[in-house]
Amino acid sequence: MVARGEREHVLVVGGAGFIGSHVCQRLLRSGHRVTCVDSLVTGSVTNVASLLDDARFRFVELDVTLPLPRWPDLGTPDSVLNLASPASPKDYQRLPIETLRTGSRGTEHTLELAVRHGARFVLTSTSEVYGDPLEHPQRETYWGNVNPIGPRSVYDEAKRYAEALTMAYHRELGADVAIARVFNTYGPRMRTDDGRMIPNFITQALSGAPLTVAGSGTQTRSVCYVDDTVTGLLALWRSGLTGPVNIGNPHELTVGQVAEEIRRITRTTSPVISIPGAVDDPRRRCPDITVARTQLGWSPEVGLHEGLRRTIAWFAASTEPVSHTSRT
Ligand code: NAD
Ligand code: UDP
Repeated sequence: MVARGEREHVLVVGGAGFIGSHVCQRLLRSGHRVTCVDSLVTGSVTNVASLLDDARFRFVELDVTLPLPRWPDLGTPDSVLNLASPASPKDYQRLPIETLRTGSRGTEHTLELAVRHGARFVLTSTSEVYGDPLEHPQRETYWGNVNPIGPRSVYDEAKRYAEALTMAYHRELGADVAIARVFNTYGPRMRTDDGRMIPNFITQALSGAPLTVAGSGTQTRSVCYVDDTVTGLLALWRSGLTGPVNIGNPHELTVGQVAEEIRRITRTTSPVISIPGAVDDPRRRCPDITVARTQLGWSPEVGLHEGLRRTIAWFAASTEPVSHTSRT
């Protein structure tokens, strides 16, 4: 593994989001300087509020789709970690053009910046590049099965383009890059209203509302606790690998099983009800993490019960749930 200097200056793009805020926090704990850049379209300053007093932390509100000459001075980053993108289906379907622009222009601008400073660049891609997969579990060598014009395409294709762009900068310009394909991640600081399965089920269970399982509930996901995802992402960053590397928990569960586990932990009396299934909803998803295990020495450590217990405790304690700065 490449040792990254303790004083290294890391630019975390999308750093005020759910995963990004945990990345900022972990980097500061490891002694790094962090500039967090975020447009706040789906993130919130609340997520990084506890970091604002740290002299090594700087928050800059910026939409990375703006042309580079309009960007403020961000100093000289040694690394650029790009997590910017609406990520929940509810968010990216509400912001389709913005999602495509962030994955395309935003990724290009952040790559340009990284090249300008000779910085290592990490793209946070997604398991959605595999679409509704015909290979199971999904290895990095699988090319995917994506509907290019469906409602999920704005996210899936933006990320596929971002991966292609990242590899083009690597091949043509010799940029030092890495691609992480992150699978479903959950934990504290997810927005209660982000529409994803786990925040929805927890919020419903805690308020006594029915848990809304889409379709038959037999579709699967493999959910990873955020601390594990961040450890995997940073292990990839510290390594010299280009990837792509799957970062996810290979414990595959049906959506119905996730709902039942949340009902058990919250001891709710809320029933489970069926709602219409989503269009193009992937039927199965599970990462093959052989590459991460063997080449990064990484695998998830937090089990489902413990991860959900911590997440539920956080949701229950949030007197004022974190909500995004909406621009109506
Ligand atoms: P999130 O919405 O909480 O965080 C994304 C952040 O990016 C937000 O703070 C948002 O304001 C910011 N952003 C969006 N567009 C921007 C722009 N144009 N300029 C600057 N900032 C912008 O989502 P998340 O769940 O934390 O996801 C973070 C990253 O990880 C995303 O790139 C997502 O695609 C990827 N990912 C997440 C998951 C997951 O399960 N959470 C799974 C796979 C991949
Ligand atoms: N889902 C559900 N009820 C909800 C929200 C989501 O059953 O209230 C389902 C959704 O249809 C999908 C799975 O849960 O099959 C995971 O959805 P999520 O939005 O969390 O993540 P993604 O689809 O992006 O993997």
